[in-house]
Amino acid sequence: MSAFRGLRGWLGVRQRFEFMATATMTVAMMAVAGALLLIPEPVLPALAGPPSADVAPQADLAPADPQIAPLHKLMESYGPVVVRQVCSEDGRVSVVLGHARQRPDIEQLAGEVEPAVTAVTGLWGRGWARAAVLVVASGPAEFAALTHTTGAVSDQVAAASVSDPFPRGGRPTGQRVVFAADAGRRLGPDGLRDTLRHELTHVAARAVTVDGAPQWVLEGFAEYAAHRGEQRSFAQLAPSLLAAARAGQLPAELPSDAAFVPGPGTDAALAYEQGWSVNAFVADRFGEPALVDLYRRLATGPADAAAVDSAVRAALGIGASDLVAHWRDWIRARAQ
Ligand SMILES: [Zn+2]
Repeated sequence: MSAFRGLRGWLGVRQRFEFMATATMTVAMMAVAGALLLIPEPVLPALAGPPSADVAPQADLAPADPQIAPLHKLMESYGPVVVRQVCSEDGRVSVVLGHARQRPDIEQLAGEVEPAVTAVTGLWGRGWARAAVLVVASGPAEFAALTHTTGAVSDQVAAASVSDPFPRGGRPTGQRVVFAADAGRRLGPDGLRDTLRHELTHVAARAVTVDGAPQWVLEGFAEYAAHRGEQRSFAQLAPSLLAAARAGQLPAELPSDAAFVPGPGTDAALAYEQGWSVNAFVADRFGEPALVDLYRRLATGPADAAAVDSAVRAALGIGASDLVAHWRDWIRARAQ
């Protein structure tokens, strides 16, 4: 049995996608709320928080993200904090924080973070921190605190990436990926790895990403990055899209932003699969550098049909209507 089938048996593909999709909604909400609610965190010495059993003496630490100390302090109010540091070969330090009850997720994330950084860098390039701060919350209240979310957090949220507000053209600070307490249990090892890579792609691309850019670009690119290099079939990665295509329902246009929001009248799982597939199609037909170029051109903010057409022409040499037509053919060929 493949790990994917195991995941499917436990949770179901659609539920998993909605678990992911709700996380995206939280990120979108954060993008709005963040500018109002986040205050710059003071620059404190690396890991200056109270010691935990996993923290090496401070003198031995490589320079770490300045958000670690205030994060540690915040998390301590939810219980003793476990810290795992992962140093890359070139000396970059990633940090995973959590609590003892989430030890299995913490250990998996510590083992996955360097391969994930390498994978994301392989697609996006070296123009980002190439290190990550990953946090596993102990429950919904801590998840909300760590993501600066006000109000109740849906138990369908698996993970969210957040950053401090930063000026356009500047470098994002305070970037972290926050995982729900039960993310590992609900997603399984493969799902947790894919979610990490999805969120890390958002982290890597954040400096050039403006809120309101088309979701098929932002989410589709992150989904493509999450599954890039996996030996999974089209049927495994896009079951809803495949079923629709086999029923003669091929997408008439690129998925709208509204389609990515779970709720009555939308099929967010299908929208995510469409987003993944159009990005996978572009990478397959035009190459990954062209896909990254397309992302950079369209991640600059809201884009109307003319702006999408212009960006697609600049990156791919064809218009948006031809992109949709060729994408439909690509799906149709895989549905046979
Ligand atoms: Zn996302």
